[in-house]
Amino acid sequence: MRLAEHTTSRVGGPAGHWVTAASEEAAVEAVRRADDAGTPLLVLGGGSNALVADAGFPGTVVHLAFAGIEQRSGGILRLAAGQDWDEAVAWTVEHGLSGLEALSGIPGSAGATPVQNVGAYGADVSQCLVAVRAWDRRAGAVVELSAAELGFGYRDSVIKRTLAPAEGAATPRWVVLSVDFRLREAGEVAPVRYAQLARALGVAEGEHAPLRAVREQVLALRAGKGMVLDAADPDTWSTGSFFTNPIVPEAVRSRLPEGAPAFGAGEGHVKLSAAWLIEHAGFGRGFGLGAGEAHLAGGRASLSTKHTLAVTNRGSATAEDLLAIARTVRDGVEEAWGVRLHPEPVLVGCTL
Ligand SMILES: Cc1cc2nc3c(=O)[nH]c(=O)nc-3n(C[C@H](O)[C@H](O)[C@H](O)COP(=O)(O)OP(=O)(O)OC[C@H]3O[C@@H](n4cnc5c(N)ncnc54)[C@H](O)[C@@H]3O)c2cc1C
Repeated sequence: MRLAEHTTSRVGGPAGHWVTAASEEAAVEAVRRADDAGTPLLVLGGGSNALVADAGFPGTVVHLAFAGIEQRSGGILRLAAGQDWDEAVAWTVEHGLSGLEALSGIPGSAGATPVQNVGAYGADVSQCLVAVRAWDRRAGAVVELSAAELGFGYRDSVIKRTLAPAEGAATPRWVVLSVDFRLREAGEVAPVRYAQLARALGVAEGEHAPLRAVREQVLALRAGKGMVLDAADPDTWSTGSFFTNPIVPEAVRSRLPEGAPAFGAGEGHVKLSAAWLIEHAGFGRGFGLGAGEAHLAGGRASLSTKHTLAVTNRGSATAEDLLAIARTVRDGVEEAWGVRLHPEPVLVGCTL
């Protein structure tokens, strides 16, 4: 099995051994077997946040292919790890449940959402996630971790902090089996917490808007940036945002021009906009497709023509092509602004 067939950036060489886990039990069994044998393990959901090397993954790849949406007592919605995320979000909107609508259109599986505390448009999963059930590879047991125990941060969690792909740990200590959310019985309306979204909906930030309208508007805004998967549009053949927004000491902010966006990030730190830093370091949309730049990756990879944060496969790129673009952008930003960008996707078998 070539991993390129299972990653949204459409790159990645062969899997040593491929297991399609159609149930929780099958997933636990496959993970346990690989761990007992000391075989490298890659647990894969939708492959939308993993950049896999051209050499592939020499160990066992366990594809989580079990879906499910279950309404439980106490207003809990339980999503199985392999459940397609956006299908679940659409389901909540249809059922008048508010909390996930701003996270519409994000590819991948429900089980991966706590890993990097998936977020967009003023929301992230930590805002309504109650707990996860997970296979603890170290303890060899199914455990429950509460939201507090998951230690969520910006694109971060306790689960993510156990990933160390450079040392061969492409899968975290905990393999999430299901995720519990507590959503509001909103009926028809939901609060809007993001200025651009509020503007598009014609309401003030913090006001309410119809739940369905929020989902539709988020999908439209995302599509305009190539952030909704589209088999016909290479601007979406990526891992989404390639870089996280850097969190830096306030002193770094004072070195940047007036117009550089910065948001409070606690204790003398600010969060900068990676997209702004990239654009103002001279890397525009489509960087890599221009004649002089094409040699970088032969025109096979480039920044999206809609959004400077995504590194995209124009059809025949290798993982190395994507990395060549990303490296040039990262180094150029560091040279221009003295700020080092860090990748958001998990780099499996390769480095930036
Ligand atoms: C077009 C596009 C737009 C995107 N937009 C956003 C966005 O707006 N906001 C955002 O936060 N992200 C975004 N992403 C990134 C990505 O969609 C999310 O991070 C998503 O949650 C990844 O899910 P996945 O199932 O594809 O994970 P994979 O790519 O399959 O896995 C990623 C990592 O998580 C681990 N993992 C996967 N499932 C589990 C599990 N059940 N238990 C433990 N570890 C697991 C894997 O081992 C791997 O290390 C975008 C990606 C794309 C391609």
